[in-house]
Amino acid sequence: QRKFFAGGNWKMNGNKKGIDDIIHFLNADCVDPNVEVVVAPPAVYLEYVRQKLNPQIGVAGQNCYKVASGAFTGDISADMIKDVSCNWVILGHSERRNVFGESDKLIGEKVKYALSVGLNVLPCIGEKLEEREAGKTEEVVFRQMQAIIDNISPNEWNRVVIAYEPVWAIGTGKNATPEQAQEVHKGLRNWLSKKVSSEVAEKVRILYGGSVTAANCNDLAAKPDIDGFLVGGASLKKDFITIVKSGS
Ligand code: 13P
Repeated sequence: QRKFFAGGNWKMNGNKKGIDDIIHFLNADCVDPNVEVVVAPPAVYLEYVRQKLNPQIGVAGQNCYKVASGAFTGDISADMIKDVSCNWVILGHSERRNVFGESDKLIGEKVKYALSVGLNVLPCIGEKLEEREAGKTEEVVFRQMQAIIDNISPNEWNRVVIAYEPVWAIGTGKNATPEQAQEVHKGLRNWLSKKVSSEVAEKVRILYGGSVTAANCNDLAAKPDIDGFLVGGASLKKDFITIVKSGS
């Protein structure tokens, strides 16, 4: 049985005061034995959030580079995320791919390195609108997944949670329908059983992300292959609690 997972990706939002408010409602309301909750603050606040948040809630970096340290101005490493007691990192988010130009290959290398230092990783995949309209959704997400799975050893899969986030649904208010998301999640699971193993396909959690709200989370969560959410905008609000509870 796959434990429901609720991730909050705060993106480049917040300041200490706003973050204090979020921490307050998270600590008060969102610890649920049936749901694994992880939030991803901007890098400069990772340690601040980790120190103030209930230890049962995980904290993730939103990105990191593929080596431990060095002349990489502006970036952070997986080792640094661990050093401030955070155990997770999101990698290959569509904004990293499409705003910052990250390639499948780089994302694969980042996954490999982050796993090697012991982080749990949340690799993200998802097609653009024109790709969906051209009937290329599976071709795109399988290509993105191949670059990821090539970098995961069999014994590391228990530290991987996949997020399917169609680009056209992110921040647009236009979520994938439960049927659309379920179809891709099921396709991914079938593909994983062929490319990795039936055990991994059965155990790995596949999250949906893209305009998840308190209003649509229950219908999405009811689908058999949707194992949780990666939430952007709504994770900054108390609605996130409703979204967490949809998995309980
Ligand atoms: P929204 O929930 O704001 O659409 O963002 C989704 C997302 O990108 C989460 O990583």
